[in-house]
Amino acid sequence: MCGVVGLIGEDKAGEKLYPALFALQHRGQDAAGILSYDFERTQFHLEKDLGLVEDVFSPERMQQLKGSMAIGHTRYSTIGTVDKEDLQPLFLSYPYGIGMIHNGNVTNYDEVVDYLRKGKLRWTFSHNDLEILLHMTAVGLGARKDSQSLPQNLAVAIKELLEKVQGAYSAIGILADHGLFAFCDSNGIRPLLLGRKKNGDKYSYCFASEKQVFFGLGYEYWRDLRPGELVMVDKELNLHSFQLTEKKPRPCMFEWIYFAGSETEWHGRPVYEVRLNLGKILAEECKAKGFEVDLVAPVPDTSRAAACSLAEVLRKPYREVLIKNRYVQRSFIINQPELRKMMVNLKLSPVQSEIRGKKILLVDDSIVRGTTSARIVRLLREAGAEKVYLASTCPPIRHPCFYGIDFPDGESLVAHQKTEDEVAKILEVDGLVFLPLERLKEGIGLSSLCSACVDGDYPVPVATEKFMNTRKHNIGGNGKSEVPL
Ligand code: SF4
Repeated sequence: MCGVVGLIGEDKAGEKLYPALFALQHRGQDAAGILSYDFERTQFHLEKDLGLVEDVFSPERMQQLKGSMAIGHTRYSTIGTVDKEDLQPLFLSYPYGIGMIHNGNVTNYDEVVDYLRKGKLRWTFSHNDLEILLHMTAVGLGARKDSQSLPQNLAVAIKELLEKVQGAYSAIGILADHGLFAFCDSNGIRPLLLGRKKNGDKYSYCFASEKQVFFGLGYEYWRDLRPGELVMVDKELNLHSFQLTEKKPRPCMFEWIYFAGSETEWHGRPVYEVRLNLGKILAEECKAKGFEVDLVAPVPDTSRAAACSLAEVLRKPYREVLIKNRYVQRSFIINQPELRKMMVNLKLSPVQSEIRGKKILLVDDSIVRGTTSARIVRLLREAGAEKVYLASTCPPIRHPCFYGIDFPDGESLVAHQKTEDEVAKILEVDGLVFLPLERLKEGIGLSSLCSACVDGDYPVPVATEKFMNTRKHNIGGNGKSEVPL
């Protein structure tokens, strides 16, 4: 999972993407990068590195990012490595200068690499699956360099790409001297939104993973990109849209549960409102279980909205019993295990005065490996809780995700091949409630979703699990610690 943003029609577009990347930092903390293009000097400028946005860009590096068109990326590595050649944006120089970023995963990577090598004599240098999107775009454009108009040629190239490359991806690209483009995979699994701002009698445009980017940049949110849609904005700021495939959208349900910022919306469904809905529905499930509780508390931060509305429905006090230390982010840089363990402990500290002698209903967005949940339950008991119940806004996660969220493979998932009672025993809670899938869909307000990690119904064919796992990198980066464990 990553954050992507692209801008055209603004002076110093590259510099403006710096604040925009802060609005997408929660989508990836392993690395950040910006590529800008200067139409006047016909030059690209690229700055990217490992680390958080504020670590990567110095004022000197920012000043290099000249031009009125730019793309920016925050990286969360699930495939590839955290080596520098895998960082985005990536760039190719033929048949046009093309720079690209993406959010998602390709699931038939080997097949496409093989096609590119044997059929097109093109070689990849990174482990990043973005590189094959880049090559496929270049191959398609190169085959028709001298025919039709460029937007038409790009549409044909991306149509071929969508047919050949399977997976979940939302991508933004720069075409030197021509303009900015963006497209989504045929199922629309990953979000991509379009914003605009009046610029004379035209508009400047911004593509982004989340809506709050537009607010920060002074743009209005206009609409979502549709699954299988390509949008190109040329250098005269004319917008060209092509619907290249016709499939029912299957957006990732986990965006609403955990990944997206509370301020954004997608498919007309505001994330914060959805989280409030999930809390209300979860309250009914808790009532049905007959839990007797003194207070409702969130596991910070994502589950606050759900815990709030759940408390309202149950007419119980809402309390913060766990405080997240916002400064303990990067415990992976500490080598000594003992110190590292202390840092992990400090990430969440108990508020003893609110816990002692209380029956607590803890609300979490999801339970993946269960290790964090088990640790929190122990923490509350040690702090004097009389009872600890746990309610999750996500149904049990029983299958891996191959589309860009770093859920572990089957065995490591706490709910894999287990009943809810067995999971409750492992977590040592006094009661456990998962939101059923149908009720989750009701809370989101959409019936067609990707929920493969819950029900195993994968919208895109996946190569074998073994294959995908061999493509997973092996990092200790802080991006991983942001996935609920
Ligand atoms: S498998 Fe789960 S996390 Fe992955 S895209 Fe589908 S719903 Fe989202």
